[in-house]
Amino acid sequence: MDRQGIFLSLVIPVFNEEEMLPALFAGLDAALAGPLAGAGPAEVVLVDDGSADRSWELIAARCRDGARCVGVRLSRNFGQQAALTAGLETARGEAVVSLDADLQDPPEVVAEMVALYRKGYDVVYGTRRSRGSEPWLKRVTAAGFYGLMERISGVRIARETGDFRLLSRRALSHLASLRETHRFLRGLVPWIGLAQTRVLYDRGERAAGRTHFPLHKMLVLAFDGIASMSVAPLRLAFLMSVLLFAICVGYVGVTLIKFFVYGVPMVPGWTSLMATVTIFGTIQLLLMGIFGEYLGRIYEQVKQRPIYLVRETTSGQGAALADVPRRG
Ligand code: UDP
Ligand code: MG
Repeated sequence: MDRQGIFLSLVIPVFNEEEMLPALFAGLDAALAGPLAGAGPAEVVLVDDGSADRSWELIAARCRDGARCVGVRLSRNFGQQAALTAGLETARGEAVVSLDADLQDPPEVVAEMVALYRKGYDVVYGTRRSRGSEPWLKRVTAAGFYGLMERISGVRIARETGDFRLLSRRALSHLASLRETHRFLRGLVPWIGLAQTRVLYDRGERAAGRTHFPLHKMLVLAFDGIASMSVAPLRLAFLMSVLLFAICVGYVGVTLIKFFVYGVPMVPGWTSLMATVTIFGTIQLLLMGIFGEYLGRIYEQVKQRPIYLVRETTSGQGAALADVPRRG
């Protein structure tokens, strides 16, 4: 396997990042001229995920001047996972690294990822050394969530890993064959297998602008993750029915003994009656809700809608990429 003179793509989803983009471009230029210069030629793929600010103008301006740069503008905001997918599918590189626009994932670490790719790895995760700067709530919920995910899905999710990772062409083509509407790349990438490893790095603070992932969006992403990797919540119905059946048998037994053995009359029982009705009612609603979530996902999947739609790509793409070495 010859992995020496590689062509590298950097894929960056961008959503309302006009404050961040000048710093991002400067950071990329510095990395491409410095630590990444030795890695071989590189292109940058910037995916504008339906920004409402001047992000697209800035991207188009950068990608117009012939630098190895491709801008893809989605027709609206499809969400980070879809934007990433669009970028991964546009990238021509033999190895593709996805990173955040906010420079929290330092471009210098990419050189280490490329070195591991050269050694034969197909997937290299960027793994945070610590989450020191993040609020404790995010740290605790993330730890609990990934533990739960692993237990119920049987897929080992790389810990402390966001969407900062290198994928080989082989890994990308496998990933491209998974067309799920509710994408959770952090689960799908471990699922494809191949030779996977990680690089440790220190994740910085967001350099400008603010996060696009408030708690409610994190929760949506988390449930997408669970539902896309596992059907365990559906089995809850079975587990609960076993548990409740045991309780019922016990309760009926006790009542009958009270009546026949001790002669306690059966009529007073308002509390136990209400308890039974409410417990059963709540559990049934809960389980119907879970079924509904899966049913909704099945419905959305059978519609087979594309994961994203493109509004435009930067002109000059052909010229900028004409000198890209093709893989043979
Ligand atoms: N992003 C996107 N579409 C969205 C939300 C976010 O493309 O709907 C991009 C965003 O511009 C950034 C990356 O996804 O490049 C990660 O977002 P952010 O930094 O806000 O997330 P955090 O690091 O706070 O989890
Ligand atoms: Mg970020």
